Amino acid sequence: MAKITLDNLAHSYLPNPAAEADFALKELNHDWVDGEAYALLGASGCGKSTLLNIISGLLHPSQGRILFDDIDVTHAPTAARNIAQVFQFPVVYDTMTVRENLAFPLRNRGADPAYIAARVGKIAEMIGMEAVLNQKARGLTADAKQKISLGRGMVREDVNALLFDEPLTVIDPHMKWELRTQLKSLHYEFGHTMIYVTHDQTEALTFADKVVVMHDGRVVQIGTPQELFERPAHTFVGYFIGSPGMNFFDAQMDGAQALIAGSTVNLGAAYKSHGGKMQLGVRPEFVELSDDPAGVAARVTRVEDVGRHKIIRLDVQGQPICAIAPEGSAVSVDATRLTFRPEGINIYCNDWRIDAEKGAV
Ligand code: ADP
Ligand code: MG
Repeated sequence: MAKITLDNLAHSYLPNPAAEADFALKELNHDWVDGEAYALLGASGCGKSTLLNIISGLLHPSQGRILFDDIDVTHAPTAARNIAQVFQFPVVYDTMTVRENLAFPLRNRGADPAYIAARVGKIAEMIGMEAVLNQKARGLTADAKQKISLGRGMVREDVNALLFDEPLTVIDPHMKWELRTQLKSLHYEFGHTMIYVTHDQTEALTFADKVVVMHDGRVVQIGTPQELFERPAHTFVGYFIGSPGMNFFDAQMDGAQALIAGSTVNLGAAYKSHGGKMQLGVRPEFVELSDDPAGVAARVTRVEDVGRHKIIRLDVQGQPICAIAPEGSAVSVDATRLTFRPEGINIYCNDWRIDAEKGAV
């Protein structure tokens, strides 16, 4: 296991990148702490696989360095990096049995046969394939083959890191949950440094200690699920995470007040107006329906009962806004105003969150 350091790392697939837009991965500095479980979360095309492939050595970065425990491995080949990587689609040897496939990484390294047998048995149990160990991989379903790929990724205990690139895409939903639980228990047991790539926020938030959110080639926030929920560092994190995501209003700032949609909202703290595009962000969980004439004028358009709570869809000057009301609470569809719980308010300048000024109100 190792700490992985990315030092001024950037990558472009173009031979002569000039503008920032030419980079699939914008400049990045980050330490992946030894033994932590990370999720790398972002929409398709934001650069997740590019980053993972640079770490494993499949891709050579156009700029910067990669260090494992402070040793520069930027030019080291994949094999020398001692990393296990599992891809989105199965990579298995069709002519080998399931057992041989699982044993392959250990055999390759000359491990003791008794150890191999025990370890393969344990992994087969984790992926639920004990019954088919002697079957050839050829003829198995894509689902089963992907489980073999996962098993092969997990079979070695001595790797520097385990990288998973959307490994559950072809797995059926129930098995997905089970395999994710297995990956988590593997992490508890062995404490590997793990990076798990996904575009699914539920997967990311349930798997990881820390979630690394990427948007358009850039890491926009690294935080615990709670930090991403309470203090999204970028508007993208606000609306990508959460269901529904954060509401954003264009705002005119005036010290400790923001003017949005014709109403004044008290912020409880002063913010400097930075001269950029100012927005007030508030998650649906902190939006309340009210009749307070000082609130933001709104019209209820729909109420969805999703079991645990109600999602209230609203219209504020033509803009769709969401509120969440706890299960069992009465929703007045005649409400004409919204208020925001102050602890749920975040202020953004040009899409990046800004802090309130200290001491000033
Ligand atoms: P993700 O894994 O988040 O879906 P990728 O890292 O695969 O994203 O891709 C990031 C960007 O780089 C995308 O715009 C994609 O089209 C581009 N890209 C990925 N691989 C290549 C490649 N081999 N050659 C050129 N462009 C690529
Ligand atoms: Mg990808």
